[in-house]
Amino acid sequence: MEASREFVYQKFTEYYRDPSTVIPATTMPEQREFAYLMFKERFMVRHRRYAEFKNFRAMLAETVPSDVYHSCAYYENPEVDMDKKGWIGADLVFDIDADHIPTNCDKIHDEFTCVKCGFSGRGLIPEVCPCCEATKFESKTWPCELCIQSARIETSKLIDMLENDFGFSQNELHVYFSGHRGYHVHIENESVKSLDAMARKEIVDYVTGLGIAILDKDTKQTRRKRGAGVKKFSLHNFGWNKRLKVGMADFLLNATTENLKVVGLNNKAVLENKELIIKRAIQEGKWESIKGVKIQTWLKLAEYVRDTQSSKIDTVVTTDIHRLIRMNGTLHGKTGLKKVEFPAKDLQTFDPFTGAVAFKKGTTKLLISDAPEFRMSGETLGPYKNQTVELPVAAAIMLICKRRAQVAN
Ligand SMILES: [Zn+2]
Ligand SMILES: [Zn+2]
Repeated sequence: MEASREFVYQKFTEYYRDPSTVIPATTMPEQREFAYLMFKERFMVRHRRYAEFKNFRAMLAETVPSDVYHSCAYYENPEVDMDKKGWIGADLVFDIDADHIPTNCDKIHDEFTCVKCGFSGRGLIPEVCPCCEATKFESKTWPCELCIQSARIETSKLIDMLENDFGFSQNELHVYFSGHRGYHVHIENESVKSLDAMARKEIVDYVTGLGIAILDKDTKQTRRKRGAGVKKFSLHNFGWNKRLKVGMADFLLNATTENLKVVGLNNKAVLENKELIIKRAIQEGKWESIKGVKIQTWLKLAEYVRDTQSSKIDTVVTTDIHRLIRMNGTLHGKTGLKKVEFPAKDLQTFDPFTGAVAFKKGTTKLLISDAPEFRMSGETLGPYKNQTVELPVAAAIMLICKRRAQVAN
């Protein structure tokens, strides 16, 4: 193995063999499937059962995987083949990852190349290759602070819905930094455990704002067929309806002509009657009382609010009742940062570049090909371009894992 990978492997080894390393046990370990990616061989070991957590710690110390996972699901026999495991239930999990959120900076720091045909580009990885329709890509990404901030905003909207619309309390929500550039929210609650994939899809649709009846295209068509008489706009006071109202009022309060154009409204009546609209239509529900403002305007406004207030979660993760998820306290193979839990109320203040740092000692000399400015353990570093620098180990590991640097001799 080349020297740089060997260096990372040594540091991962120290982490997993250090008795002071905290890796919180999962609930019900005897019913979970554990899995890990072999550091050198790069294959996934699956269907492992560790009824005793100390045996799991011993495996980590001995094997030193690059990434460690456990099932969200509980099984009668987690160690056998999928179809024989005997599914008992599963935690409800949400994954919010900058990989799924378009940002202004992803075109600057992210690149992808199609494994099959070599087509390459910058920004979000497409679902299918536009040239050959393959779905596998090599990617070069960066745990950029703006990207993490956009994931934080999506997570905050999710938490708000889980608390206020679904009625979970803050201590039922386990919130984690993922170790890369996103967040996980787990709910381990009897009330969610038995939900099947369909029920989880309903929750996903709610969170992403899919199929809100008032905006539903089918409903609109049906209404049109039935005749103009039934076309009425109204919003009640809970769930998404309330979110739409609050969002519409907030948006209108500060909207400029330009903002309205973005929403597709160059309606003078809206701009001139902002206060009246908020008071009479949104607050009092008299949607038809504003001259020149019709149902199409309300729909456009509501759709805009739906798009900004919905949470851009990875929908596949939540609906998969057999999902493997990264284990709390273990290292992310793409950064060397830890997955780490923090209280939901600390979402805005928890800093991954101090709170998720696993390596706090030592420095090493690196030959860096290309790295943007970044922070690590309170220090601002970079940008670097084709230069040799001595860096703290945590920063060095991230650059090597991100294929932006090599250990210098
Ligand atoms: Zn291709
Ligand atoms: Zn970014």
